[in-house]
Amino acid sequence: MHIKMHIGIDDTDSISGGCTTYIGALIIEELLKNRETKFIDYPNLIRLNPNIPWKTRGNGAVALRIEVLYDESTKIEEKVVKKVLENAYLDKNTEPTVAFLKGEVPTILKNFAYESIRRRMDIDQAVKIAEKSNVKLFTLNNKKRGIVGAISAIGLTLDDGDYTYELLAYRKKENYGKKREIDEKSVYEMDKLTSPYTFNNIDYEKNRILITPRGPDPVLFGIRGENPEILLTALKRIRVYEPIERWVIYKTNQGTDMHYMDVKRIKELKCYDAVKLLGKVCSPPKIIRGGHLLLTITDEYSDTIECAIYEPTKRLKKTAMYLQCGDTIKVYGVVKEHNNTLMINVEKLYVKKLEKITKKLNPKCPICGATMKSEGKNKGFKCEKCKYKANINTKKEERIILRNIYEGIYLPPPRSQRHLTKPLIRYTNERRSNLQQKMIKNWYWSETLHTNINQNESNEEE
Ligand SMILES: [Zn+2]
Repeated sequence: MHIKMHIGIDDTDSISGGCTTYIGALIIEELLKNRETKFIDYPNLIRLNPNIPWKTRGNGAVALRIEVLYDESTKIEEKVVKKVLENAYLDKNTEPTVAFLKGEVPTILKNFAYESIRRRMDIDQAVKIAEKSNVKLFTLNNKKRGIVGAISAIGLTLDDGDYTYELLAYRKKENYGKKREIDEKSVYEMDKLTSPYTFNNIDYEKNRILITPRGPDPVLFGIRGENPEILLTALKRIRVYEPIERWVIYKTNQGTDMHYMDVKRIKELKCYDAVKLLGKVCSPPKIIRGGHLLLTITDEYSDTIECAIYEPTKRLKKTAMYLQCGDTIKVYGVVKEHNNTLMINVEKLYVKKLEKITKKLNPKCPICGATMKSEGKNKGFKCEKCKYKANINTKKEERIILRNIYEGIYLPPPRSQRHLTKPLIRYTNERRSNLQQKMIKNWYWSETLHTNINQNESNEEE
């Protein structure tokens, strides 16, 4: 008898290196070796709330969903745990956790997962949810921090609403820490060919390649896109001068804005929440030390909150400088505490409605068109150019001031966007139906497994 099994893995990496997605790839290979094991979905890469203070990297967890022979399930669990322990970077900052669930994902776990993308979750609560959902947990030295991520990865099934894909290619161990040997020109060509169905490949403002991470981790490059097929097309265009050890296509919540919860009242905000909030600007933007920008918004209930837009957001900050009191905006960002008061660090800005700003100006001369000069309070106006004198009842005229800003959505440049942030290029490409697509055959490749991308196929397309 076959049963469904969900595997969640979190907190295997640290600042010094390692990567949960890479351990995921190693486990995938292990599972694919077993002919009785079938993947029922692409491996899932789940980005959690990026604002948790102890998380210094991307805060990603991995879920694998398979069908296995019931009799083999225990053996598989043992194999997975062994693989994690062999490969996790164990230092005082990592607390690797593996979670297993047999059967369908229960609603309470789905709900917990959804919430953990958006807020800071309590570890004890996670343990309770795991118990109630019959999730089996493996932790190291009873350290529990990874539980939230491991069970959330299982719970976030990505079967309705929006999601994207990322193809991650990994380096050989001997090249870790060395410069990534990738032909940058080929990345530009790939982008030209596959955009907008791939995204955030390049930051054109700085001419910087974004598909390669920095630092010692095993990822050689990652291409983000709307479907697996386009990622294979993109992969074929990338020229690298170092061997690829393996690659895998993950289904992911990256680039979906999933983490922002709609909050109506400022009073409801809690520290570390990722939120979107509609409000009116009630104190004009001011620049503080470091070039950062502060402004205050108010909700319908007259509560106010200060919003910070940091200098590295560049064009986002530049735009916000032109906001004025009365403008209706939606801020997307994270709630932080500063000097005992909550504020929002803005990551995205929707300028919904600009207030019509008027200014009272001296009237123009009806004869020559020059701006007239006041003769003093209640003494009327006189044109200095042609000496025309206006009637004493002439008043200042209200004129609409031209704004240096348009209504619309504003984001920081791609290089400063977070994994979960939906880039502009994805607007209108979002998935709305929950139609399950059939999995493509080539979603994993490794030298050792020889499930190569079909060489003939790639030749035909050249
Ligand atoms: Zn005049």
